[in-house]
Amino acid sequence: MNEELIPFITKLKTKDFPFEDNEEIKTIFKEIRELKQIFVNKDDQNGAKDCWIVETIINNRIRYENAWISLTQRKYEKAWRELVFCEKWFEYLLPHFNYMDEDYSDLFLDEIEERTKTLMSLFPYYLFFSPSYVIKKLVCSICNEEINPFNRCDHKLREIYNGEICFRIIEEIKEINHLALTRFPRWKLRYFKPDNVNFNYDILSILIDRSENSMDGWNVIADKLGLSHENFKHFQPDHYCPCGSFKSYKECCMKNDSVYINAYRIDTNSKRNNNHFISMRFRQIKVEEEEKIQHGSSVIVDPEAFYFD
Ligand SMILES: [Zn+2]
Ligand SMILES: [Zn+2]
Repeated sequence: MNEELIPFITKLKTKDFPFEDNEEIKTIFKEIRELKQIFVNKDDQNGAKDCWIVETIINNRIRYENAWISLTQRKYEKAWRELVFCEKWFEYLLPHFNYMDEDYSDLFLDEIEERTKTLMSLFPYYLFFSPSYVIKKLVCSICNEEINPFNRCDHKLREIYNGEICFRIIEEIKEINHLALTRFPRWKLRYFKPDNVNFNYDILSILIDRSENSMDGWNVIADKLGLSHENFKHFQPDHYCPCGSFKSYKECCMKNDSVYINAYRIDTNSKRNNNHFISMRFRQIKVEEEEKIQHGSSVIVDPEAFYFD
């Protein structure tokens, strides 16, 4: 890390870094850009690249904080967008430096990356639209030269040149071939929502309500929750088992002492609202088993993060 960038990193490690204060953050970005220009003028590629790294780290931290703020405001779609970009930019950023290095320690980059993925996994979005198209004109973001089977510039995709990342820019699309519906699109921005489905964001709202802030020591663990058969008296033995196995009740959990349902356990440092279970699939069930609850943790049932009306 170029020593001229150390003050920015040091500031970033403090609690009062202005993730929300626009004017202050603008000044920081301006200073980094000016520094980058000096490196570029000297053709100091490493210095310019370090500027890009610091800029990207700050931007991604802002994205993560913005996502958290949107979640606290129950603006789930807005939060989702921020998280999608946050995940993507970690993908672009991390190959360019060793974030376990001392310079970058205490920035919690690995933790934020992990938390981004965890938060995304709690959203009820499973399927995404992914368009496939015939490209008429593709150019390199660094040199602006056209890329096609007969012409290729020397810039490597996602490498950093003069402190900027190299992308391919689609300048013209000839036609859209098809629209795929997939679990793993390149961009998870356009999610699929069937008309008769209501998305359920309960897990997220509970997590947010119980956490003091975005970096509170919250943790989400996939778990099983055992519910007594009392809760499922309205299920016939030859019904599908309430555990969601798609076996019949009598051939599945009825043989056991309890019905074991997939659940997330949410642990937080917060002492707030830590005294109930919430069932998502079986909304008619309100389980209050105080003895099962440890301090600061609870179990949320979530066999299917969205449910049909
Ligand atoms: Zn190029
Ligand atoms: Zn079962």
